[in-house]
Amino acid sequence: MSSYPTRAWVEVDLGALRRNGAAVAARSGSRLLPMVKADAYGLGVGPVVNALRDLNPWGFGIATVTEGEELRALGYDGRVVFFTPVLEEDLERADQANLTPALGSPQTINAWVARTDAPWHLAIDTGMSRAGASWREVYELAALTAQHPPEGVFTHFHSSELDDGSMDAQEERFEAALKRLSFKPKLTHTDNSAALARHENTGRDIVRPGIFLYGVGSGPTASVQPEHVVSLRARVVEIRTIEPGDTVSYDAIFTARRKTTLATVAVGYADGYPRALGNVAQVSIRGKLAPVAGVVTMDMTMIDVTDIACELGDVVTLIGRDGPNLLTVEQVAASGSLSPYEMVTGLRSRIERTYVETQ
Ligand SMILES: *Cc1c(COP(=O)(O)O)cnc(C)c1O
Repeated sequence: MSSYPTRAWVEVDLGALRRNGAAVAARSGSRLLPMVKADAYGLGVGPVVNALRDLNPWGFGIATVTEGEELRALGYDGRVVFFTPVLEEDLERADQANLTPALGSPQTINAWVARTDAPWHLAIDTGMSRAGASWREVYELAALTAQHPPEGVFTHFHSSELDDGSMDAQEERFEAALKRLSFKPKLTHTDNSAALARHENTGRDIVRPGIFLYGVGSGPTASVQPEHVVSLRARVVEIRTIEPGDTVSYDAIFTARRKTTLATVAVGYADGYPRALGNVAQVSIRGKLAPVAGVVTMDMTMIDVTDIACELGDVVTLIGRDGPNLLTVEQVAASGSLSPYEMVTGLRSRIERTYVETQ
């Protein structure tokens, strides 16, 4: 009997993850602040943090106070910066867990410095219009930050994967904002994954890679490419043959043109294999590509295996490597016009995570 899980599973290559982190650190010449928010983009924050600790990161970046408490519960006692703005009522928990907030509003900054001398980072909004002090109005914080200087000052790019010049414009705004402040920050940071593909030496103290670590690159022209990290696999649980004219799955968007053999695979959109991949995505089985037939259902997906000899229990690769085939997250996401970020973070907890270490 095989030792595979009996339904569906996500396989995370911690060796590749670590090498992706090392590649980013080497290229940028900066310390790492790996972004491990949302359960490390859905891959399991515990194993991911353990693997990345080998790289001696400056700290870890997360979104929420609760995620920070989780990191503490895992035994990580290094620096943890959280990036979603919080209401004043959350500052006490943040302080108790020894978390470093990213702050932008005078009200929350005042509340933080009144409560503690612990470090905080100043968020500058240079065009994302989401969080942080506007680069135009940052002088309003000059007095406050002179008295209570933040440890770090940072901004976030909105389109670093595009060649639209916006990154240069945001960098200029960031530099202008830094000049408007009356202190020199110990640390500055700007780069997410796609920005790192452009900046060989960032000239910043810290970099904040997320998706690159998890194996998703910034397109074929990017100057660094990540190794593949995430695979999604599932087992064949039924096989049937249907007649020409028979249809498959909800809404009957697939009609057999010939005698067709279908394998039912035990994974569906409730596992994070999106419904939009119905009739458009390909999977790999026994090293051969097979198309998804009909709409992906909540718990099952049908594939056309007419030309492939397969058996009950066979392993189907929906994302990842199988023999000569590599189905990358980007390719699979693109086949359904989906974001690779949503694809990775959408893999749900119903499927177990398994961890491997390639050399
Ligand atoms: C999520 C996040 C990142 C990482 O973005 P990627 O595109 O996944 O590299 C960096 N900085 C901030 C502030 C973030 O919220």
